[in-house]
Amino acid sequence: MKKSVLFLGGLSLVSILMLAGCSKPSDVLVVGTNASFPPFEYVGGVSGDEINGFDIDLARQIAEDAGKTLKIENMKFDSLIVALNAGKIDVIASGMTITPDRQASVNFSDPYYEATQVVLMSKENNSIHNVDDLTGKHIGVQLGSTGDIMAKNYSEDVTAFNTGFEAIMELKNGKVDLVLFDSEPAASFLDKNPELKLIKLDFAPEFYGFAVAKEKVELIKSINNTLSTMKSNGQYEALVNQYMK
Ligand code: GLN
Repeated sequence: MKKSVLFLGGLSLVSILMLAGCSKPSDVLVVGTNASFPPFEYVGGVSGDEINGFDIDLARQIAEDAGKTLKIENMKFDSLIVALNAGKIDVIASGMTITPDRQASVNFSDPYYEATQVVLMSKENNSIHNVDDLTGKHIGVQLGSTGDIMAKNYSEDVTAFNTGFEAIMELKNGKVDLVLFDSEPAASFLDKNPELKLIKLDFAPEFYGFAVAKEKVELIKSINNTLSTMKSNGQYEALVNQYMK
């Protein structure tokens, strides 16, 4: 009896040590995303609750090259930078545009995708032809997004939703006049909503980057190395062909 207790005690010590080894945060790359931004990140797959997309495939390679196991944390877009700076996640992979404001609190990788804002609205709405036509319109956006920031330059009537998907639902319900959203996700939502149309106005290009806490200088270098290798070996282009229209 005594012997087996001792044995169990020994075993548990070993397993505690093993567990401590396996769950050591440095073995895992925790990537934060808002999986409501197809084709960059979305929930789906065979099980219906897998998180997939262009950013996720890039993040998988980033984790592999850094010798770490990838773990995805799905959260509100608006919470990502807070989570990063609180050390809850190591990287933001969420179609995040590199902006000077964000650069004040995080470091961005080299840009990995060029996008722009576009307008989504009902096919029957013919009132918007240029940016000046946005004045005074009720604009739906995603909270904390560049679309949110930009919309406020044109109109005081801006409603921010937790996801672009919710903004588009409200557009379909006639609660907002238009939605300002990033080009690729807008095109992707358009596929499923034939009553809507997409209009390109004269908006400046935006560049997406992966974000990392300021002090993690090695991680940024490693991400940039992965991106440049993927660009030169054709992997990046293959992902563009797989995910983009
Ligand atoms: N590119 C936009 C931004 O950075 C939107 C990103 C997103 O909604 N995932 O604000």
